[in-house]
Amino acid sequence: MKNREYHARLDYSRLIAALMIVGIHTYPLSSVSEELNFYITHVFARIAVPFFLITTGYFLLPLYFTSEAKNKEPLKKFIKKVGLLYAGATLLYLPVNIYAGHYADGNVLWDLIKIIVFDGTFYHLWYFPALIVGVLLIYLLSRKFSIRVVGIITGLLYLLGLLGDSYYGITIHLPFLDTVYTAMFSLFSYTRNGLFYTPIFLLMGVVIATWKQRPGKMTSFIGFMISMLVMLSEGAILHRTQSPRHDSMYIALIPCVFFLFCFLLSPSKGVKTHRSSRSIGAFVCNPHIRDISLWIYVLHPFIIVLVRGVSTITGFTSILVENSVIHYLMVSLLSCVSSIMMVFLLSKLKSISTHHPDETKNPDKTRAWIELDLENLRHNISILREKIEAAASHPTPRLMAVVKANAYGHGAVRVANELNKNGIFAFAVATVSEGVELRKHKIKGEILILGYTHPTQFYLLRKYRLLQTVIDYNYAQKLNEYGKQISKKQVFVHIKVDTGMNRLGERSEDIDRIIGIFQLQNLQICGIYTHLSTLDSHEEKERVFVKQQADEFTRVLSQIKEYGYTIPPRHLLTSYGVFNHPDLMGDYARVGIALYGMLSRQEDTDTYNTGLRPVMSLKARVSAVKMLPANATVGYGFSFRAMKEMKIAIISIGYADGIPRCYSSDGSLSCGNGYVLVNGHKAPTLGNICMDMMIVDVSEIDDVDQGDIAVIIGKSGGLEITACEIAAQTNTIANEILSRLGERLARC
Ligand SMILES: *Cc1c(COP(=O)(O)O)cnc(C)c1O
Repeated sequence: MKNREYHARLDYSRLIAALMIVGIHTYPLSSVSEELNFYITHVFARIAVPFFLITTGYFLLPLYFTSEAKNKEPLKKFIKKVGLLYAGATLLYLPVNIYAGHYADGNVLWDLIKIIVFDGTFYHLWYFPALIVGVLLIYLLSRKFSIRVVGIITGLLYLLGLLGDSYYGITIHLPFLDTVYTAMFSLFSYTRNGLFYTPIFLLMGVVIATWKQRPGKMTSFIGFMISMLVMLSEGAILHRTQSPRHDSMYIALIPCVFFLFCFLLSPSKGVKTHRSSRSIGAFVCNPHIRDISLWIYVLHPFIIVLVRGVSTITGFTSILVENSVIHYLMVSLLSCVSSIMMVFLLSKLKSISTHHPDETKNPDKTRAWIELDLENLRHNISILREKIEAAASHPTPRLMAVVKANAYGHGAVRVANELNKNGIFAFAVATVSEGVELRKHKIKGEILILGYTHPTQFYLLRKYRLLQTVIDYNYAQKLNEYGKQISKKQVFVHIKVDTGMNRLGERSEDIDRIIGIFQLQNLQICGIYTHLSTLDSHEEKERVFVKQQADEFTRVLSQIKEYGYTIPPRHLLTSYGVFNHPDLMGDYARVGIALYGMLSRQEDTDTYNTGLRPVMSLKARVSAVKMLPANATVGYGFSFRAMKEMKIAIISIGYADGIPRCYSSDGSLSCGNGYVLVNGHKAPTLGNICMDMMIVDVSEIDDVDQGDIAVIIGKSGGLEITACEIAAQTNTIANEILSRLGERLARC
């Protein structure tokens, strides 16, 4: 919840920052007052680029200072994205460069590297390589050093940068420094690059994201105002002494942007009314705004060239170029418009290239099949993320998607793929082979096996980089033995603690044995968790038990700490926990059923007002339609006898596909009122469900033909059957109904 609001605020601030950068390149006030122009574009607007950098650091890099740093995926993805953008922008500006003769003097190889890596292929494009170099530098430093040390290193680098930027006046008076900097400037034209300038701001993002006692709203505001005043004076003094070689870097810029970012992140008074502002939140958090600011950054120099060109041709130069205010507004407006068009076009292109109509992608809608609504899956992810983020802040807990049992029948690979695309890189499965299947299909991120893996299969853990649950101390020893045979610390595990479920896990009372696990040399302990047995209940007795189990878990964790071990990332909540006991949130939430759009029972899904939407539809063909004379029976053992003449349809799905045999409205096994939907009408099931077929009453439905579609779970016309409803009819929970759905079903 709150995070969403702050992130929206950051998105809008990025838009403002982009327009400030347009200002840096157009000098909006130069025709009004040189003095004012100096303060605004050469000093004040210098906060814009650092702001972009801090945002990147804040969202991308904190991970690399935690125990989960092994996940290089986000880093790779980011670098690929920025690299592509840089390559695209380079091509875009190639004609301008050639026209301006920038590449004319036969560049040797180093000059090319200098341009590509440091100076940028157009005057504003230095930003992209500097971003990549900075991010890589922070990543490499994070491998070796703590945040504090990396802070000192980036601070020193910035200092070196200052001496080649605004403080160059000092450098040229010191012969030694002068020699060094002259040499440096043959390698790159400015110190405002990925080595000296970007690292400190990227790291600042990490610090702000992870620092629990960062300054509050008022302190940040005052801090920002004071630092800004200092920076304006600093700029004025340096300018007067003609010190700057270039003016991107000031000392006061550091506190200035630090306080500004903290200010933007601090809660506003209106946060509590969040519910009503939800739809606004959803809109403002629109990632499009983020993209638009990026495109403004990329495109505005092009627009400048365009505006100048067009005004020269049309003879409007005196208004459109020489009046700096109008020039600035014009460039900003056109940059915004072209960026919006760009983002719109790209999103259209993307949806065309990724939109495969189900029929062509998987034509097997011939007998019985499952359809997934990925839009609903994404919706559920965002609801769950919001809940999870609201429950704790530092560090933000992660959603561990439970995709065991073929993702509760939905198709594990398909679901995990979509989750990967939406930034989920933590999964839980029940068995080693489920983990292997995901890896074989290139699913990225952590995969935790919740169950027992036989020692003969330990090699698969390593081969497919799976995390194994430590079931108890004895099992830990077996894993450790295996670890000895392979290179050290290559067995990655989460320890399970049994706090009262009495299923898997080392017992919480046996603290010696738990500590014993920490003492084993060959295990890499990446997490610790427990499973709570009564999360789904409102009853006092059950809630007290949840509390007892959680307290017991906390007690174990503090004992681990007393023994001198760091507490690994911990987790204890499942779907119900997220809604019913969010106060117990750990570092992950292991969410299964809720991802798929429901809780185990319909009344719970409604009571918690979860807003979740079912992801699955289950459908099958009508294989035959026939008339049943009065008194005839249907199916095995007279399980249904017609009282009057009826029209029936045979549907090609049965209990071997996972439909409970008793899901019948009137069979001998009947435990409820089973029905399916045909052409938007209810068709009650007749007799017991057979292995491969079921029979339904379509007497009241016109126009039912062989080959029509029957909906077993999902919508038809205005009606809907949910998995929870089938569960209620057959005396079980939705989890069982979904996870039983068999291999024979096509998954489209
Ligand atoms: C299945 C399972 C989950 C997921 O539970 P849901 O109620 O579906 O969210 C979480 N943790 C463990 C240990 C599990 O076995």
